[in-house]
Amino acid sequence: MHTHIIPEKLPRFAEKFGYGDFIYLDHHKPGAARMMKGDQFFREIKENCWNPELRIDEYKEFNTQVQVVCTIPVMFSYWAKPTDCLELSQFLNDDIANLVNAYPKNYIGLGTIPMQDAKLAVQELRRIKEIGLKGIQIGSNINDLNLSEEQFYPIWEACQELDLAVMVHPWNMMGMSHMTKYWLPWLVGMPAETSRAICSMIFGGVFEKFPDMRVNFSHSGGSFIGTIGRVEHGFNCRPDLVAIDNPINPREYLGHFWVDCITHDIKALKYVIDHVGSKKVCLGSDYPFPLGDLEIGKFIEESDLGQQTVEDIFLNSTLDWLNIKESDFK
Ligand SMILES: [Zn+2]
Repeated sequence: MHTHIIPEKLPRFAEKFGYGDFIYLDHHKPGAARMMKGDQFFREIKENCWNPELRIDEYKEFNTQVQVVCTIPVMFSYWAKPTDCLELSQFLNDDIANLVNAYPKNYIGLGTIPMQDAKLAVQELRRIKEIGLKGIQIGSNINDLNLSEEQFYPIWEACQELDLAVMVHPWNMMGMSHMTKYWLPWLVGMPAETSRAICSMIFGGVFEKFPDMRVNFSHSGGSFIGTIGRVEHGFNCRPDLVAIDNPINPREYLGHFWVDCITHDIKALKYVIDHVGSKKVCLGSDYPFPLGDLEIGKFIEESDLGQQTVEDIFLNSTLDWLNIKESDFK
């Protein structure tokens, strides 16, 4: 339920809009492309970032038939003018809708929306529903605003009403400029970002106000589940700071939201399952990026987890999260 994809050809949005470091692809050699952020090199990607048949073949090696796809978080472009971000989002969403239509047994799509403008975001959510995507992927913060902010309520309301699932992905990592060495934004910042998103939504009462919204947090919830004892203790010892918008103990929300299984560590995964239950843990890979679990679920198959638990992770939890049926893929 957690893989990334990008269109092979991206318009030069920076030229079109006349500003900004919108991502474009420099196909400098066959089978690979440079992602460019303005004039800056961002990341080298391979053909499995955009070629649907190659992706299906690579997945087959690990007996996996279906990929839930979403864009690469650097494409969110929440910093852009809202109408420009809407246009970019529509381009990406249409590309994924075309993919899903062409390969309905192999792909499920999540869209992206201009989170910086709730009105336009809701407008695009309605279109996302019409073109057959099953949910959206959003960032862990929106231009440094937390997901507890009231300005996002119309978006949560629309996701509930339209039966669209939400995946929260870390991006725009806090402290990035202070952690330029050792890949720290990815190793330290990302897990912290995801915990930031979960804590914000819990303490802001978002799950109380929108109880039917189905949210899935990347990388097994980042550092949240591993620090739940500290988070709960903070809630109990300083309610004047923590419990100001929601009186419910944060531990109560374990089992309310979904997470993926991307831990790279079977003991850590067992700890996550103990806390949220196997019905809330989905098979995620972060394919095709190197920090992902590129031997899709192999560490789970080789573990001593029971058959029911494995079936929940490999199948049932994602079906529940997206509110879809297994029979649609047979
Ligand atoms: Zn990812």
